[in-house]
Order: sequence, then C-alpha cells, then structure tokens
Amino acid sequence: MALIYCPDCKNQISDSAVNCIHCGRPMRLSREAILAEIHNLENDSDNAMEWLDDFNSREGYSSDQDSLNNIFNRLEKNSKRIKELNGMLR
Ligand SMILES: [Zn+2]
Repeated sequence: MALIYCPDCKNQISDSAVNCIHCGRPMRLSREAILAEIHNLENDSDNAMEWLDDFNSREGYSSDQDSLNNIFNRLEKNSKRIKELNGMLR
C-alpha cells in the first residue's frame, strides 16, 4: 500500500482509500464496486451474445438492422468500460 496526495487538500492518503480521509474527496471506486460492475457488464455482454446467436439462427429475418447495430454498440461499450475498470484495479 502506497501513500498518495489528495488532489484537493494535498494531504497524504493511502492509494487504496475510497475517499480522502481529510476532506472526503472521492478517490476512486472500491475494488468491490469495480469487480461488481465488471461482473454486470460481462453478464450484459453474455446476454447480448445470446441475442446475437438467436438472431443468426433466425432465417429470413434480416431487416432488424437497428437492433443488430444496438447490440454491437452495447458490446463495444461494455468491453471499453471493462478495460477501463480493469485499469483501475492495477
Ligand atoms: Zn483531501
């Protein structure tokens, strides 16, 4: 565990602190909160992939381009956010 300086009050705090113990500034999400969000995003992506599998097996149902784009956007957004969250864990 290392010590860092709070950007607001310039006091030293632990780098694992969720809030600055001096001024209360939120420092970062707790490890649990990050892991929980990653878990939720992965579940959401799994659901999206299942929807995609269904979509691919539906013959002659190709006019649903909007839904397809939505799913791809959702998967992309989820994976970006998961990367971001994983970065915070380091
Ligand atoms: Zn502070």
